[in-house]
Amino acid sequence: MSERHPLDLRRCADCEAWWALRPYACAACGGANLQWARAAGEGEVIAHSTVHRAPDASWRTLAPYELVLVRLREGAVLMGHATPGLTIGQQVFARDFEHGSRTLLCFQARRPP
Ligand SMILES: [Zn+2]
Repeated sequence: MSERHPLDLRRCADCEAWWALRPYACAACGGANLQWARAAGEGEVIAHSTVHRAPDASWRTLAPYELVLVRLREGAVLMGHATPGLTIGQQVFARDFEHGSRTLLCFQARRPP
């Protein structure tokens, strides 16, 4: 399979539960019929932190940067970069950005309707 987008997650074909990791079976229904599917990228911030000391040289160009855990509308939890100032409970959506050869997610606040 070609390179996955960060929003490509495992979805159970039996019960439609979504998983950010790669389980061998669905933890919701026990089915083993997991498929790739792309999430919409919208969700709610459940944790955030600011990284001041990057783990290696490739990340140092970005530091300091924000990381968030987001519970997607589909139910899976993903980590991604974020625009500064997001708070827990905030509704966000994901935009792609390129870092080196990788596609990463940057979550940003959803505008109120
Ligand atoms: Zn299932």
